[in-house]
This record gives sequence, C-alpha cells and structure tokens, in this order.
Amino acid sequence: MVEKFLNMAKRNSVRLSGIINDLLDLSKIEAGKMDYKFADMDINSVIDYVKPSLSGLAKEKGLNLIAEVTNELPHINGDSRRLEQVLTNLVSNAIKFTPEGKTITIRSHIADAKQIHANECFAEDLKKLTGQYVVVCVEDEGIGISEKDLPRAFDKFAQIENSLSRKVGGSGLGLPIAKQLLEAHNGTIWCESELNKGSKFYFALPFSQKEKD
Ligand code: ADP
Repeated sequence: MVEKFLNMAKRNSVRLSGIINDLLDLSKIEAGKMDYKFADMDINSVIDYVKPSLSGLAKEKGLNLIAEVTNELPHINGDSRRLEQVLTNLVSNAIKFTPEGKTITIRSHIADAKQIHANECFAEDLKKLTGQYVVVCVEDEGIGISEKDLPRAFDKFAQIENSLSRKVGGSGLGLPIAKQLLEAHNGTIWCESELNKGSKFYFALPFSQKEKD
C-alpha cells in the first residue's frame, strides 16, 4: 500500500517538474532569453541520442521504435540540446498516443522546399522555406489527429479533446515549444495525420552555411 502511494507521488512529481520546465522554457523563449549554443552538426547525432534514451519506454509499452536514417547528411547549424528536446517531445508523444504492438519510425532525409507538401493549415509556415533542407520525421501508428484539430496542435495549451490526451497528461506545451525552437533555427515543423491511423510529425532545418561554401 505504502509503495503504491510512493509510486503515485513519484509519478506526480515527475509530471509536475515536466510542466514547470515547459513553462520556464516557454517564458524564456517569449522573453527572447533562451540561450542557444549553435554549432555545425549532423542531425543524425540527435537521433542517435534520443532513440536509445526512449527505447526502454517504448519497449515497456510493447512498441517497436526504429530509425531509418540517411547517412552522411549535409550538416546543419544547430543547438544539439534543443534539437534533442524537440525530438524527445515528438517521440514521447508518439509513444503516448500509440497502442501496444505498433511501430514508431524516426527518419532523416534531404528534401527540396518544392517537394514539401502538407495540410493547408501549415501553408503559411511552409511558404517561407526555400532551397534544400534536412528533414526529420517521426511516424507513428497511433490514434491520429482529426483534420479539424490539426491546426490547433501547435497552439499553446492545446490538448486535443480526446479522453486519451487527458488520461496520459502533459502540459500541452511541448509542440509550441518545439515550433519556437525550430523557428530559432530558421526551420519549421508540421504534421500529417489521419484519425485512428497515425501521425507523421516533420521538422526541416536548413543546411549550415559551411555546407553551401
Ligand atoms: P502534451 O503532449 O504535453 O499534451 P504537446 O504540445 O506535445 O502537449 O501535444 C499537444 C496535443 O497534440 C496532445 O495533447 C495530443 O492531443 C496531440 N498530439 C501530439 N502528438 C500526437 C501524436 N503523435 N498522436 C496523436 N495526437 C498527438
């Protein structure tokens, strides 16, 4: 009995510190005080860090977490800790919203802005892209997001009105934080999703200037 309450208290304190960290991050970003450490880097190093750190959680839920990366991608100019934060959020969401026995795939590839298409609610963001980008995609086979809810997914405190979102908890701040972190990298984030089929969250980052020389 005591053990049950201790576990519950531990879970709640982990959840609470997650919410506090999200609120702190968002207020720092909005005040223009987020401290970025940009460096020339390979996005696959972010996948190499995040995948093993979440594979235990995926396994516990009976999910298969795999990576299909393109080797030797052009470098980007990024803050590896912040990009790890973005990818961690996307993969954690995929784990939260995917039922047992299914697969989550992390991919990386190159795409030309002209090849990138998405739901019209992301048209404004995608219109800003020009030239070539390194794209990361997190694909799940989970509950999906309806076309009606998709435009709100990156809004602050948006927890889509389904019983699972409420049950699994969270701050509803992970995606808006990810969006702002990517915008600080001159990148963007968008999502394709079908209710009850699954979601694909993408983010695109421009090649580093060094690659263009
Ligand atoms: P949180 O997960 O903390 O609630 P997020 O900003 O990360 O906040 O996500 C906002 C909402 O978007 C979630 O509550 C959920 O309703 C929806 N969502 C995010 N990722 C997925 C996903 N992979 N599949 C289905 N719904 C998702």
